[in-house]
Amino acid sequence: MALIVQKFGGSSVANAERVMNVASIVTDTYRQGNDVIVVVSAQGDTTDDLIEKAFELNSKPSKREMDMLLTAGEQMSVALLAMAIEKIGCPVVSLLGWQAGFNTTSTYGTARIKSIKADRMKAELDKRNIVVVAGFQGINKYDDLTTLGRGGSDTSAVAIAAALHADRCQIYTDVEGVYTADPRKVEGARKLPEITYDEMLELATLGAQVLNTRSVEMAKKYNVEIEVLSSLNKASGTIVKDGSKMEKMLVRGVAKDTDVARISVTGMPNTPGVAFRLFGKLAQRKINVDIILQSVGRDGTKDITFTVSKANAEDAVEAIRSSFDLDEDAISCDTNIAKVSIVGAGMESHPGTASKMFEALFEEDINIDMISTSEIKISVLIDANDADRAVSAVHKAFLPEE
Ligand code: ASP
Ligand code: MG
Repeated sequence: MALIVQKFGGSSVANAERVMNVASIVTDTYRQGNDVIVVVSAQGDTTDDLIEKAFELNSKPSKREMDMLLTAGEQMSVALLAMAIEKIGCPVVSLLGWQAGFNTTSTYGTARIKSIKADRMKAELDKRNIVVVAGFQGINKYDDLTTLGRGGSDTSAVAIAAALHADRCQIYTDVEGVYTADPRKVEGARKLPEITYDEMLELATLGAQVLNTRSVEMAKKYNVEIEVLSSLNKASGTIVKDGSKMEKMLVRGVAKDTDVARISVTGMPNTPGVAFRLFGKLAQRKINVDIILQSVGRDGTKDITFTVSKANAEDAVEAIRSSFDLDEDAISCDTNIAKVSIVGAGMESHPGTASKMFEALFEEDINIDMISTSEIKISVLIDANDADRAVSAVHKAFLPEE
């Protein structure tokens, strides 16, 4: 008998019909003789709606009360799914995060899982119950409810699979898997049968929002193979796994990220410690910096250009203004830009990958502002208006239709 963990996201349980559909997937798996633990998210936009309700009353609710509120979304889902499974006629029990043994750190809103005391889940499986667990939540050392951060149910599922050494961890969503590019926008984009954890992490942070980043980090750490698939049809999905076991493709995907702001600071003194001071100020404000470019400017000064997410742009400009004595026009911020990246574990051993990407952009007459590379990724910063064209051109160059 195999133990299978199945996770269903908010869109997969959005209404009664979808819940019934999930119940039938779960009970089919159970009736094939498997032990099944199901993790569910809140229905549809429930979490957003709850947040809105909170802000109607108080623009600065405490994080503790926020978690108390948000955990209710998943509580509804587990009960409803259990009822649907009862209706089909299989034995089932629903559990909240704390009942399933999720102990977390105490930071409300972004708690991390510390341990899972799995006795209750195991006891229910021994009774041949299907176990339905509320994702995204746990309990801290003060016996208070906590949440794991938006999209946290993926992490709940991977954590259970790791703790109980599940044979399979299936993440059901409303797309069929991970694609070489956004299939709604890029002609010829196709589903990948498999992808490595590292590639998935790059693609996840680059905006291919299929799996929550932390869940992939956890899967990598505990070597949990994840199968991403659709709850709406029976097509095969994408397996996310360790890279050593698989064929290395040069480029596995092309991603676009428009949540980028570029900040340029000119005329900084060309002396040691300037970059340290500047980025130190940003670090103090917990602002994450992505691409950095430094160059020597006129009169022995230096220019520093870097990118941050749009939400951090204003704060970053403010931080620099208040800590350096600069002219009014020395700092500029541009938000009409996009980052286009190619990702693939195979490119570390392939010279010429970067130039092939730049050629594809040149042929489309697209200007590159900044470039950054890592072992498995090359990113360029370009004008936002060129982004979709750039993705298509680069996709065509590296992943032509077979
Ligand atoms: N319901 C939570 C959210 O919307 C958790 C999740 O969906 O994974 O962020
Ligand atoms: Mg959700």
